[in-house]
Amino acid sequence: MLQLRNVSKGYAGKFGMLTALSDVSLSLSRGELCALTGPSGSGKTTLMNLIGLLDRPDRGEIRLAGMPTADLADDAAARLRNRLVGFVFQSFHLLPRLTALDNVALPLLYRGLATSRRRALAAAALQRVQLGDRAGHRPEELSGGQRQRVAIARALVTEPKLLLADEPTGNLDSRSADAILRLFLELNAALEVTILIVTHDPTIAARCPRRIVMRDGRICDDNRGALRAVEGEP
Ligand code: ADP
Ligand code: MG
Repeated sequence: MLQLRNVSKGYAGKFGMLTALSDVSLSLSRGELCALTGPSGSGKTTLMNLIGLLDRPDRGEIRLAGMPTADLADDAAARLRNRLVGFVFQSFHLLPRLTALDNVALPLLYRGLATSRRRALAAAALQRVQLGDRAGHRPEELSGGQRQRVAIARALVTEPKLLLADEPTGNLDSRSADAILRLFLELNAALEVTILIVTHDPTIAARCPRRIVMRDGRICDDNRGALRAVEGEP
């Protein structure tokens, strides 16, 4: 599903180049559910942005669904992202003036579908996250957990192969956070979507079958990576 090879990324700052990612290699198989943890500033968001083709590495190679991405022009990268990747953020990023249904339908605008078709697909995605009865509500009329479920429906409406969630439960109480994790587990099982979740919450990370830990721009622990090395897999 995803391969990174020797990926590095730095940012130019006041005091010179700051290395955010240093020689990261990683492979995710189709249908994996993986937690990404590590201290603040260890490079998690930078890694997610590169994987989601929102930014480009300085060095190294990223393959998404088998496709090399280094030579893609920006519009081709955007198309690949729209086709393969869904994003979920800590602060939901919903548009406040739009209903839940219209927020969810938004990513379909680029697909050239009729309005009725877009709305039908958005309604089905809201059903998937058990919010079919909240389609007409605006974000401010929903709880934090419900807002995040709308955002997850929006990420799913394009049927992505890869879901990238950057601290999706960071703004939620522990009960809502647990419900969101159960939703990810269920979607992962039902849709075979590959999911990568950045989290600070050890109880959430513990329930993900694969766990990767970052420190200072490097992967310092990977439970499946170690298994693969033992089994001689790539
Ligand atoms: P995390 O998500 O693990 O907290 P980040 O990937 O956001 O870490 O950041 C990794 C490092 O890169 C940090 O030192 C951060 O300050 C720096 N960084 C991240 N984004 C930028 C940016 N746009 N410009 C400059 N430095 C950045
Ligand atoms: Mg971050």
